[in-house]
Amino acid sequence: MPELPEVETISRQLNESISGCTVSQIEVLRQRSFLGDEKKIIDWKVESVSRKSKVIGIRFSNQTEMVIVHLKMTGQLIFVDGMKRIVGGHPTPDWVNELPSKHTRVIWTFKEGSKLYFNDMRVFGWMKIVSKEKYEKEIRKQSPDIIDQGFTDKYLFDILKKTKKAIKLVLLDQEKMGGLGNIYVNDALFLAGIRPDRKADSLSWEETRQLHKAVVRVILDGIKYGGASASNYVHVSGLGGTYQDHFQVYKKDGQKCPKCGEIIKKIKLGGRGTFFCPNCQM
Ligand SMILES: [Zn+2]
Repeated sequence: MPELPEVETISRQLNESISGCTVSQIEVLRQRSFLGDEKKIIDWKVESVSRKSKVIGIRFSNQTEMVIVHLKMTGQLIFVDGMKRIVGGHPTPDWVNELPSKHTRVIWTFKEGSKLYFNDMRVFGWMKIVSKEKYEKEIRKQSPDIIDQGFTDKYLFDILKKTKKAIKLVLLDQEKMGGLGNIYVNDALFLAGIRPDRKADSLSWEETRQLHKAVVRVILDGIKYGGASASNYVHVSGLGGTYQDHFQVYKKDGQKCPKCGEIIKKIKLGGRGTFFCPNCQM
């Protein structure tokens, strides 16, 4: 599942690629993947593309409505302009194969000649036309993303003090803070030296400050490396992010801890693979 850094990366790349482009055609190949009257956006000119939590917002010049996109489990956005290709979201062979594929749900064509494909294997993702005003109001009510200004060490401390749940599960709760998924949460807890199964309210102020620094760092690192896209063919094609080359403990069970050399352990927490160093994390 694409996490915040992957969504941020494709959002930034699309902002550079389709801003200023005018929609000339929209083909909806699977009705439920596009909510709203797609014909409406024909002739609309893209103003900008940005992200809040894991939702991508496409805004248009002089329009009161916009399109929002959620990739969910297996959604992909692939922008094709001649030989140039920009890919984002769930990595599959469709990143490099001929398009449309059998997983293509929506195709945007721009007057400039480029195309944007929305592929989604398991079809939980969607594109939706919404009122810009309502959406912006909604965003303001949401909890802060890890990299928003509102996400301070004090904010984190107040949340942790209120619960005895395992710290890892609290960090994954998108209603409390947006952006940490299973990859980045494992690495952040390692960097902060905190065991994933510690009770949240047992963290001291100093530990919370270290943890706050660590979660911000892993998300910024994720964005710096263009997200994580661990797949063999992705490396061959040179497409996709490379954060997977910088994993600290995620999926490294049985290997040596990069800090102390102890063997990294794997446990299950909330049904998800959880990786930590029994020596460095307390
Ligand atoms: Zn260690």
